[in-house]
Amino acid sequence: MNIVLITAIFAALLAFILGVALGFFKKVFAISEDPLKLQVREALPGANCGACGFPGCDGYAAAIASKTAGINSCSVGGKAVAEKLSALLGVEANMIPMVTVLACQGTKEKAKLKGEYVGAKSCRAAKVAAGGSKICPWGCIGFGDCVKVCKFGALSIGEDGLPKIDYSKCTHCKRCIAECPQWLLRGVPSSGKGAMTLCSNHTLAKGAVIKACKAGCIKCELCVKNCPEQCIVMQNGIPVVDYTRCTSCGTCVAKCPTKAIKLIEKDIIVTA
Ligand code: SF4
Ligand code: SF4
Repeated sequence: MNIVLITAIFAALLAFILGVALGFFKKVFAISEDPLKLQVREALPGANCGACGFPGCDGYAAAIASKTAGINSCSVGGKAVAEKLSALLGVEANMIPMVTVLACQGTKEKAKLKGEYVGAKSCRAAKVAAGGSKICPWGCIGFGDCVKVCKFGALSIGEDGLPKIDYSKCTHCKRCIAECPQWLLRGVPSSGKGAMTLCSNHTLAKGAVIKACKAGCIKCELCVKNCPEQCIVMQNGIPVVDYTRCTSCGTCVAKCPTKAIKLIEKDIIVTA
């Protein structure tokens, strides 16, 4: 018999034996999946975005099934998924839906640039190489590192040079929050109650803010002094609102000379 034919028959036989052996060992040593984990996995949306803090939906499902994670961490699935998991596991769902907000209004028109930046068009690179692109060291650099990581197409850089958030798409997966080298993206409850300062300039020098940006908080504290609920306090140079007490009356917004503070529901979360 020809040597080529013998080799071919031998190879086919070997492949067959190995196939049978593999099938046998797979059955004998198979690790059966926890049925609860499979049910939990079924209830999760399958976005695999990692916003829950686990490596994808499989990882989060395993953690929920083994009771090492709660059921309220899937921001993509939101309240609907938390309620499904609540019914499945008999634990209470208390998810507060959140959306992402940009705490900077330093548009091309309002915030002065340092000069011409010629390096890589990345916010992180510009921060490392030149301390950002604007005179305000806390301002949005505008190269869209946040836009690049959003898996849901909810972010884009607007004509004014700042990221725009499409609230019909934002799932508050927090990827942009983690990516921004200026820490300008924050989570607020999507119910939208309360006011929020849209400036992150922490300097206490009013003159330095005025020099850098027309929309910056100039630390006059008119919002703090005029709030009828007394629910605004200065923290590290920024007026911070206690949402639990704020009634959204708009007094702070009306008093602010630079319009650095805005009502979340009325001025920030615009879905139409
Ligand atoms: S929000 Fe942050 S990541 Fe996004 S463009 Fe501005 S500086 Fe860059
Ligand atoms: S009123 Fe406006 S400028 Fe003055 S402290 Fe409040 S947010 Fe800042």
